Amino acid sequence: MVSRPVTPRRSIRVLPPAIAARIAAGEVIERPASVVKELVENALDAAASHIRIHIRGAGLVEIRVSDDGYGILPDELPLAVQRHATSKLPHDDLEQIETLGFRGEALPSIAAVAELAIASATVNAPFGRRLTLSRGEIVADELVAHPPGTTVIVRRLFENVPARLAATRNERAEVAEIVRVVRRLALAAPAVRFALWLEDRLALQTTGTGQLSTTLIELYGPTLADALRSLGPLEVAGARLTGLVSSPDLTHSNRNHLHIIVNGRWTQPRTLLASLKAAYRPLLPRGRHPILGLVIDVDPRAVDVNIHPAKLEVRLHAEPEIGQAASELLRNILARTPRRFVFTPPTQLLDPLRSTAAVSEPDTRYAEESLDAPIVTPALPPLQLLGQLQMRLIVLEGPDALYLVDQHRAHERILYERLRDSQVTQPDLALLPEPILIDVRPADVERFASWLDRLATLGFHCEPFGPRSFLLRPIPTLPGVVPGSDPLAGIGEPKELGLSLLTLLDESDANEDWRDRFLVQLACRTAVRRGKPLSRPALRALVEALGQTSAPAVCPHGSPIVLRVEADALASQFRW
Ligand code: ADP
Ligand code: MG
Repeated sequence: MVSRPVTPRRSIRVLPPAIAARIAAGEVIERPASVVKELVENALDAAASHIRIHIRGAGLVEIRVSDDGYGILPDELPLAVQRHATSKLPHDDLEQIETLGFRGEALPSIAAVAELAIASATVNAPFGRRLTLSRGEIVADELVAHPPGTTVIVRRLFENVPARLAATRNERAEVAEIVRVVRRLALAAPAVRFALWLEDRLALQTTGTGQLSTTLIELYGPTLADALRSLGPLEVAGARLTGLVSSPDLTHSNRNHLHIIVNGRWTQPRTLLASLKAAYRPLLPRGRHPILGLVIDVDPRAVDVNIHPAKLEVRLHAEPEIGQAASELLRNILARTPRRFVFTPPTQLLDPLRSTAAVSEPDTRYAEESLDAPIVTPALPPLQLLGQLQMRLIVLEGPDALYLVDQHRAHERILYERLRDSQVTQPDLALLPEPILIDVRPADVERFASWLDRLATLGFHCEPFGPRSFLLRPIPTLPGVVPGSDPLAGIGEPKELGLSLLTLLDESDANEDWRDRFLVQLACRTAVRRGKPLSRPALRALVEALGQTSAPAVCPHGSPIVLRVEADALASQFRW
């Protein structure tokens, strides 16, 4: 349940000039969506439980927002449209802001660039009052019948500001921005019912259940339902983190769906977003972004809200710590959620001549007891090894699903983490039985030599051999790549090591992050290939080692390693 702190209704007053001057002002009303945002924020601050938004002509013709909040007393209505008049800073305390608004600027700013009518009534009042303004001046003042709450109608936006009008020519873009803004506001207030009409079409609607998951599903559609994973709850640096993220099966090509909600405010804390992106980037395919709703509740004194004119950014005092903890939550979910196997109805019959699928015969040489015990690891469910499929997949049975593991990517992940960890602890070294000869073009000899020290810190020891060659012999112990007597011995591609080291010639010396790129490609080149038959002990050892890694579900390039075929999906496909 996500609930916004509800502040009581207070009287509106004009802010003292000293406070008004400290407010991060600026042009608040840049486009129709800014009007929608300000009006809806006012409704939320008034504790509305139902907010209706009607848009005509991309918001340039008319924007109407009505709420059932606590309304404005008739005597105070003129103040509401006056500059720097607000009911929200009762103690002039900009350090402790609990409302979405606090500057007393939105209504007068809108009134300056449009025609504005505001009608409002409070509970138990016999009548409401309505003010109509044109170019900032009150042109009508009437008693009206109005249910408790407030309705604001904004017409002919920017008609007197030709530059703004010209900037909002693209109506589709303006409508899209309005939808985006309403979606954000609705996510930040899941306990509030929202309805948005574009012309006369109901474009978006939430039911106000108070559950973020329900709101996300209402806004993004039912396909999201199966894909949501919870984050937290977690307490860190005085903040409480909760939230939801879409599983790696459901990602987006744009990053507009990262919703961070700090004390009921949709916002974009820069440092936090950067650390979240850095956390998911290696775990998702290139250019893909998750749908994320991250809710941070924290003491209002630990957030600066007054740093951005459109109030889009906030700064959390403990942002680095919170960012790190949130990234860790995100990483754990994305790195460990196996992709779901999606059935598509067969549109074509299989060609029996080309079908090579066959589960390999159990290898009787290893029919010992221990080989049939389930594989139990920290990061994967207990898995029973069934066999190898198409010489590229390891087939396993889990508690309520069949698991398919890509043998190449599994090995890649194991090697990558082994190499990455060896940067922290001194790597154990192994000797290649045959040193690898690396030939370098004469022009590159010096450059390559300049990498040797850094390579040695990773455990790769090369020495010059003749004028334009190097010999590589001691390397870190990489299971399956270096010789040994373990079940993985001999499955990898040690001869690729030479080519892999040569990629350093393409690295610029100045680039401090060469290590990760180097390790990713090295792991990929030397890992077992698809198409290689593997013994049962090797299959088992791969899964055991994979389950010890920090991200068994995704390879270092962000592609899936494990696919889950759920028992339910099978049951429904077979119509059992
Ligand atoms: P701010 O929200 O920063 O205070 P606004 O110009 O948006 O400034 O609104 C001025 C004041 O008018 C608010 O402080 C509030 O008291 C009142 N007000 C505006 N909209 C509403 C609403 N929908 N319901 C109740 N009060 C409102
Ligand atoms: Mg406001």
